[in-house]
Amino acid sequence: MSSVVKGLDVNRMDPNSQRDHFQRQREEMVRTQLADRGIRDLRVLDAMRSVPRHEFIPEPLRQDAYEDHPLPIGEGQTISQPYIVAAMLEYLTLRATDRVLEIGTGSGYVTALLSLLSAEVYSVERHAQLAALAERTLHRLEYCNVKFRIGDGSQGWAEYAPFDAILVSAATAEMPPALFAQLCEGGRMMVPVGPPFSQELQLITKVKKQPKVKILEGCRFVPLVEGTLDSE
Ligand code: SAH
Repeated sequence: MSSVVKGLDVNRMDPNSQRDHFQRQREEMVRTQLADRGIRDLRVLDAMRSVPRHEFIPEPLRQDAYEDHPLPIGEGQTISQPYIVAAMLEYLTLRATDRVLEIGTGSGYVTALLSLLSAEVYSVERHAQLAALAERTLHRLEYCNVKFRIGDGSQGWAEYAPFDAILVSAATAEMPPALFAQLCEGGRMMVPVGPPFSQELQLITKVKKQPKVKILEGCRFVPLVEGTLDSE
């Protein structure tokens, strides 16, 4: 239920009350949408409790930031539902020393979580405006261990490869081979694979240079669009 329905307009609150209000909502989100549904990784739960999701959401929709569904962020794109983000992060089993590649910066929300859970984050987004806004938000909130690039993430970011983990936030018909090539031995990749309206989350591990694929839960992501915007 949005806070306006409850009779509160968050956009009119003073900054301290607004912060406390969102913090309460965030704690409730972690309890009811994540812990109660089986997310167990304490580092993931702590990170989700810490990152102010509302800061990554366009102002008119902020009151819904902690609801149990995706939200539009502009350019026809969405910030994913909190549960699916937590599930992807839990499956990736990130260590504090990992170097991580993210494809599809979008709002920068997942980038902020990756920034807390790993050592270095490399994030690629094809929409220049989304990338610029995400970069501003992350700097303002002082998530400093992140590098950004505008371009086609299906090609990865060869300059900084190999990566310990890769998280793809957009759906692809098949796992992109260029991304697999940029994984370390033993590295893990989370990617939604399947047709446009329904995919399965796959955890792909590089074992002796070969992909070991584990099929996880069903999901629905916006498509991974190959090529840059200039070439459209
Ligand atoms: N994790 C993001 C979700 C963004 S939705 C968040 O928390 O907000 C997926 C994003 O992938 C969109 O911003 C879309 O523009 C981007 N995207 C789609 N195809 C891409 C590609 N080939 N390279 C880089 N980014 C891509």
